[in-house]
Amino acid sequence: MRVLVKLVCTECGEENYYTTKNRRTMPDRMEMKKYCPRDRKHTLHREKR
Ligand SMILES: [Zn+2]
Repeated sequence: MRVLVKLVCTECGEENYYTTKNRRTMPDRMEMKKYCPRDRKHTLHREKR
């Protein structure tokens, strides 16, 4: 029951991270602060399928 999701930088649109999540425990769109190599800083990354 785990789905692969992409985490996309909200500032430049780069797909920097892949993660899996459990749809039952995390039904909402995930957002997390991650390091973006293109921006060279931490930015908000948002889930994209
Ligand atoms: Zn970025």
